[in-house]
Amino acid sequence: MPQAPAVIGNLVEATLGRPARVLGVREPAPGFLELELHATAPPGGWQPGHEIQFRVTPTLARRYSVRTVGGPDAEHLGILVDTGAAGPGTAWIRRLYAGRRLTLLAGRQRPLRESGTRRLYLGDGCALGTLDACATRSGDAPVVTVEVPADAVAPLADRWPLYRFLPLGETPGEALQSWLERAIGDGTFARLDGALLLGHAQSLLRQRRALVDSRSLPRHAITTRPYWATDREGL
Ligand SMILES: Cc1cc2nc3c(=O)[nH]c(=O)nc-3n(C[C@H](O)[C@H](O)[C@H](O)COP(=O)(O)OP(=O)(O)OC[C@H]3O[C@@H](n4cnc5c(N)ncnc54)[C@H](O)[C@@H]3O)c2cc1C
Repeated sequence: MPQAPAVIGNLVEATLGRPARVLGVREPAPGFLELELHATAPPGGWQPGHEIQFRVTPTLARRYSVRTVGGPDAEHLGILVDTGAAGPGTAWIRRLYAGRRLTLLAGRQRPLRESGTRRLYLGDGCALGTLDACATRSGDAPVVTVEVPADAVAPLADRWPLYRFLPLGETPGEALQSWLERAIGDGTFARLDGALLLGHAQSLLRQRRALVDSRSLPRHAITTRPYWATDREGL
């Protein structure tokens, strides 16, 4: 429901609304905010990777993902937000503060389809929370590579030493694509049997094409989920 008349938004909120309270907001790296929320669980409970929506105006909602679930009641959520998007969702999140009450929208979790057990996880800053939620549960040592603003590389690499962080260049996806093509060439992916590609829509398509054309992975072993697209608001 990225955009809907207010009356529809009210109906959705009446069905999927979960009362929540902000416990904390911190900046783990330039360009990122980490939200800690307490939120009443939907049917089936909260799961890492759970997709949620914030209703940021009466007619607009924006999608985010739960990175961590904890607390004695499993209703303590961690959400990592990339503040690089210059829209109403990011502006609304920047105004959150500890103690603020809000309603988030969520139904039962529908997990992303993941193939194989030796996986590649690729994405940009807005996908880091979901990639981390998935990679943490992944069987064999996953390969995780994320494109983030240059000044966020060092603090994020300190926090996630097993992940590779690439500095975002002038064009979204360019750094990831160059890394991917090098990795294909040097055999890094010889033992992989699945991939999850999240983030910038146009970049995901190029990444999937490179993996399939080089026969690194068959198309069915690659899951893609666009999180944003150039010149599109609220996917
Ligand atoms: C299922 C799903 C889960 C998601 N989970 C998360 C999450 O956990 N954390 C998170 O940070 N984001 C997440 N996103 C992405 C987030 O919903 C988008 O970035 C969203 O568009 C931001 O809303 P906005 O109102 O700030 O910008 P919009 O009004 O949607 O867009 C404004 C402008 O910013 C551009 N833009 C949008 N997103 C980005 C971006 N990430 N980087 C650069 N430019 C951008 C658009 O192309 C547009 O030109 C998720 C998206 C989906 C679909």
